[in-house]
Amino acid sequence: MNGPIAIAGAGPAGSLLAIYLARQGYDVTVYESRADLRRADIGAGRSINLALATRGIVPLVDVGVIARVDEITIPMRGRMVHAVGDTTPELQPYGILEHEVIHSVSRTDLNAILLDAAEATGRVTLEFEKRLDSVDFMESVLHFHDGSTAPFGVIFGADGANSPVRESIVATGACSFAAEALGHDYKELTLPPGADGSHCLDPNALHIWPRGEFMLIALANPTGDFTVTLFAPTETFDALQTGYGIQSFFDQEFAEFGALVPDLIDQFLENPTGKLATIRASGWSYQDRAVLMGDAAHGVVPFHGQGMNAAMESVRALDRHLRDSPDDLAVAFQRYEAERKPNTDAIADMAISNYIEMRAGVVDPDYLAKRTLALELQQRHPRHLSPRYNMVMFSTMPYAEARARAAEQAEIIGAAIADPSIDVDALVTNLPLLPDNDPLADPKALSLS
Ligand SMILES: Cc1cc2nc3c(=O)[nH]c(=O)nc-3n(C[C@H](O)[C@H](O)[C@H](O)COP(=O)(O)OP(=O)(O)OC[C@H]3O[C@@H](n4cnc5c(N)ncnc54)[C@H](O)[C@@H]3O)c2cc1C
Repeated sequence: MNGPIAIAGAGPAGSLLAIYLARQGYDVTVYESRADLRRADIGAGRSINLALATRGIVPLVDVGVIARVDEITIPMRGRMVHAVGDTTPELQPYGILEHEVIHSVSRTDLNAILLDAAEATGRVTLEFEKRLDSVDFMESVLHFHDGSTAPFGVIFGADGANSPVRESIVATGACSFAAEALGHDYKELTLPPGADGSHCLDPNALHIWPRGEFMLIALANPTGDFTVTLFAPTETFDALQTGYGIQSFFDQEFAEFGALVPDLIDQFLENPTGKLATIRASGWSYQDRAVLMGDAAHGVVPFHGQGMNAAMESVRALDRHLRDSPDDLAVAFQRYEAERKPNTDAIADMAISNYIEMRAGVVDPDYLAKRTLALELQQRHPRHLSPRYNMVMFSTMPYAEARARAAEQAEIIGAAIADPSIDVDALVTNLPLLPDNDPLADPKALSLS
């Protein structure tokens, strides 16, 4: 690489990439618009978490931080579904294999581990509160919001969904992109610990209150609280403007949850409402000068819990292409996009359809019958069949392949439900074998404790 190497954004993708590049022997400067999250007060003790799964775990193993990450994760073995009314919540296990578990992890703490590891390489300079405004490819200069500039040779755009690096590539004509709004928004809330400091709900499950058009989900934090997120149509949020309206909404839809959160109305009014969109970009690079990754290239809606996992998987793929073509960056960037784009498009679509599964499917008898049969078939034919959710979450099979296999499996399962006399085992054993270089084939290889 010629000239100074810069990364815009020190989120999960940028900080992970910094480690990979340092391991290849490059010196790198990372420019991050926010303050250093390891030192800054991120506000009111709120801990925002997300689900870590196999595609994120693999790179964390790669760069040697998995033991530290293991200390801060909480395993979630299935969905705890809180149906309408006074029913007992029901656990729907994610899978039947030992490693089929997702992990709740604090965004900030995971990011901090990656930043520490990047610094520990001795090759990474982190510059915080440096908001990139634009990239001047002609002059080889980065322009920052504070008026300063820095020279660069290659810039890696890990600067999230509103990426200025992407904007600068778009300006050259090399990239086109669209942000497709979902029309549903989200709001994060905190479910505090019980009086004795322990979790009010089972911490080892992802809790869902599915309500058809909208839903609430909750993931545990090690501090005894849960991060809770309401996902709903924009109009639903627009209608929830007063304390009375918010209280009535929760009393009617989520009475069990509302009773556990004394300051629910204050939280609801104070916490921001976030927008959700799918970012579809085409042309992730500009010559041998710039390339995009993570949300900047392929932001997805959060319903498959894959945005960060996919971002880290992309960074790992980019590392491989850079090592394969060290003397031709433009080729490395193109091969990286050629490999990743069909797959990130596939997860973008699957993430949208998983929203419907989560907010409605998990209490639909037809869905449940199919899911039960899929798990039974997986038990009988583990080398031939794995449910879609499991291929996405617990394997590194390319997303597009997972989608294609899932479509074939869905046809067989649908036919077997419609006509129980069908020899479903024969149909399943005709499916191609699952790849044997995959964590699916070696369940223990990637499990966190
Ligand atoms: C409600 C919600 C729940 C989610 N849950 C999950 C989940 O369970 N599992 C999962 O895998 N994913 C989840 N995601 C998605 C996940 O958060 C993102 O996909 C992931 O953070 C992308 O990482 P990134 O590094 O590409 O981008 P980001 O995390 O957005 O990081 C970009 C970084 O760049 C910095 N930056 C931005 N602009 C500039 C600039 N101009 N100059 C310099 N720096 C800049 C930002 O401050 C940030 O640090 C969820 C997302 C949402 C909204």
